Amino acid sequence: MALIVQKYGGTSVANPDRIANVANRVVKGWRQGNKMVVVLSAMAGETDRLIKLGRELADYPDPRELDVLMATGEQVTVALFSIYLKAQGIPATSLLSHQARIYTDRAYGKARIVGIDTARIREELKKGRIVTVAGFQGVDEVGDITTLGRGGSDTTAVAIAAALKADLCEIYTDVEGVYTTDPRICPKARKLDKISYDEMLEMASLGAKVLEIRSVGFAKRYGVPLCVRTSFNDHPGTLVMQEDKDMEDILVSGVTYSKNDARVTISQLPDRPGIASRIFNKIAEGNIVVDMIIQNTSQDGRADITFTVPKADLKNTLDIVQPLVAELGGGQITSDEHIAKVSIVGVGMRNNAGVAARMFSSLAAENINIMMISTSEIKVSCIIDEKYTELAVRTLHDAFHLEQARPRKELT
Ligand code: ADP
Ligand code: ASP
Ligand code: MG
Repeated sequence: MALIVQKYGGTSVANPDRIANVANRVVKGWRQGNKMVVVLSAMAGETDRLIKLGRELADYPDPRELDVLMATGEQVTVALFSIYLKAQGIPATSLLSHQARIYTDRAYGKARIVGIDTARIREELKKGRIVTVAGFQGVDEVGDITTLGRGGSDTTAVAIAAALKADLCEIYTDVEGVYTTDPRICPKARKLDKISYDEMLEMASLGAKVLEIRSVGFAKRYGVPLCVRTSFNDHPGTLVMQEDKDMEDILVSGVTYSKNDARVTISQLPDRPGIASRIFNKIAEGNIVVDMIIQNTSQDGRADITFTVPKADLKNTLDIVQPLVAELGGGQITSDEHIAKVSIVGVGMRNNAGVAARMFSSLAAENINIMMISTSEIKVSCIIDEKYTELAVRTLHDAFHLEQARPRKELT
């Protein structure tokens, strides 16, 4: 008998039939004697619909009220799920975040889980019930509803699994696992049997939305055994786990892309100590997360700085830097929303020269211009024109032979 946490994404609970299908799957595990905790997302498209509704009444809906609105999506699915189970005579309870006691800070729209009091969930499990928890939502110190950020139900599930010390956390989605790249844009994408926490963290942070990044962080920190699979068949999926020996043999495990960022360039800034600090401190005060930064070498005492911020924060960023740059005696500010970041990720590239070079030459062979580059121990990212995203992903997938089951370290 095991304690299993399962999370079903929006496509798996898109309508009553699918909810019943998922519920039957859960019942199978329950009949085998397992304790089952089920975390559900809202029906596919529902969160977007709710946000749109809010925006019909305000360009920038109040964040607290927007969270109250968005959290309703998950309330509907957990209720329907438990209604179905109870109608089959199966003991079940649905819990919203205040009942499941998922405590967060007050950062509406991107709240962080600060603790989970599992007493109620345990009590329900003890009574033999299937416990269904609304994903994506939490409750702050004064009892207000918060949401965890888009894709946040993954984080709810892994955090509950960590708090309950569950034997397994399964994330059910609309693809069969974690692939070498997004299977929707690269037909040659190959499903991985396993991937290390660190690679998955990089892939998630670089755009592979199959797992929300914070869920992977929790899984790594608390050693939660995590599996990504589909609710549409019984194929085994992908294990996200501690790095093992043969993972290092693989040079590049995956290719990711993200169209979420925008570029800002400030040209002709005075090149003296304290300028970068002034600019990036002001941006940080605006709660804006800067990703890549490059500064060219100074000429005639002036330098250019280019950086990327989330597209959603571009307007705010420009509002912050415009007066500041005028004050600092800087030059022109330009920005571009039509950029994409393509990245290659792999623990095997740690000790391998030539990986970045191969990436750059394969992009060059397709005439794709690289605007910015950043690297870490296990990834290389390039900013390119957004219109070449799909081509770049397929090109890199081919260049590193990711369609083959076990590409080796050799670079030939
Ligand atoms: P859910 O609603 O189940 O949370 P998401 O849409 O958030 O599902 O995530 C699943 C999607 O992630 C897939 O449909 C796929 O298009 C996309 N995706 C991006 N990169 C990858 C990858 N490397 N492996 C698998 N899926 C990926
Ligand atoms: N329903 C939320 C979203 O669409 C959370 C999730 O699905 O994980 O972002
Ligand atoms: Mg998701």
